[in-house]
Amino acid sequence: MQTIDNFNFAGKKAFVRVDFNVPVDENFNITDDTRIMAAMPTLKKILADGGSLIIASHMGRPKKNPDEKYSLRHILKHVSDVLGVEVKFAPDCAKAADVCAALKPGEALMLENLRFYAEEEGKPRGLADDATDEEKAAAKKAVKAAQKEFAKLLASYADCYVNDAFGTAHRAHASTALMAEYFAPENKMFGYLMEKEVNAVEKVMAHTVRPFTAIMGGSKVSSKIDIIENLLTKVDNLIIAGGMTYTFVKALGGKIGQSICEDDKLDLALSILDKAKKNNVNLVLATDAKIADNFSNDANTRFVAVNEIPDGWEGMDIGPESEAAFAEVIKKSKTILWNGPTGVFEFDNFTGGSRAVAEAVAEATANGAFSLVGGGDSVACINKFGMADRVSYVSTGGGALLEAIEGKTLPGIAAIKG
Ligand code: AMP
Repeated sequence: MQTIDNFNFAGKKAFVRVDFNVPVDENFNITDDTRIMAAMPTLKKILADGGSLIIASHMGRPKKNPDEKYSLRHILKHVSDVLGVEVKFAPDCAKAADVCAALKPGEALMLENLRFYAEEEGKPRGLADDATDEEKAAAKKAVKAAQKEFAKLLASYADCYVNDAFGTAHRAHASTALMAEYFAPENKMFGYLMEKEVNAVEKVMAHTVRPFTAIMGGSKVSSKIDIIENLLTKVDNLIIAGGMTYTFVKALGGKIGQSICEDDKLDLALSILDKAKKNNVNLVLATDAKIADNFSNDANTRFVAVNEIPDGWEGMDIGPESEAAFAEVIKKSKTILWNGPTGVFEFDNFTGGSRAVAEAVAEATANGAFSLVGGGDSVACINKFGMADRVSYVSTGGGALLEAIEGKTLPGIAAIKG
């Protein structure tokens, strides 16, 4: 497989798929440029080699072409500033052949939002509400055919293809997967960010050093079930935390008061416990909880046994006994995956459990464990504690990371790896 370090971009035009889907305020000021900064090593290496850049991304979920609200023009100046060259702009990504052909070594161009075209995602757009199944099927077939042409067109702009958009690696879109087909294996590769993400996932899921502990938090068991099922075939220890704790506790006959619970998932919780036993996985549930008399930061609080939560109270975080039990397991681990907070970490009075987990993960990491933190709120959580640099890797991936942990093959990765 080709690598970005081994590739000399001198005199080459590189199509680089990045994830510049950054949040902007009502005046289109970027409120968090993490994703832009994350792509810089790749973009800078290509320019430094003497290549030219065709930067391509999506932003938001536009439903028409053009859709000013989602224009990448708004972020052009910032990208130019941090890249250190003036980035040109192609206002129509499907009519950029000439401007791409005219690019000289060291120059950079950004294409307008790829998702202005329905072909990028390959999903029909503008179907009438009362469309028949036949009409829907015909529209789907048409857009799929057009998607191939769109991918071919984008590929025709460049000599080589670099995918640095891990955040969309789980999508089989024209620019994230399909267009790779039009490049020879030696002319397509991951960017640095994508490479780091893929390596981190492989270190955890494929080249696992034991003991392997996964900490699954968050709100609902239903949203994590595919991940839990896959992890039950891989981990030594599975720590279940966060809101989903109470579905397990109720399934086991405990009293959970007003705690968040999925009553239709009680059997599922029991089958997870059963499967853990069969697979010799040490499944660790909280034994105590920090409870509150309403869902707010200023609520009255108490610590109680997790299965003795009084009516009118709800579990908002784990208690000190669970913190200690979780930390003991985590500190003995050599591979750690952490997804989801142990409690309602957005409220400062309920961050204790997540902070204790973060500290234990950091300590294990300092002692040689490999730790991967990622997927949704875990990143916000570790950043809130200012501890991102004390774990091995914080994924930028969200949904892509979760699908990788579920054991799925990600189209964006398969398109390069073959
Ligand atoms: P997820 O997106 O599934 O990772 O869930 C993260 C969310 O779960 C965060 O917003 C937390 O506030 C929430 N959460 C964690 N623990 C609890 C709990 N005990 N009760 C309600 N929500 C929780």
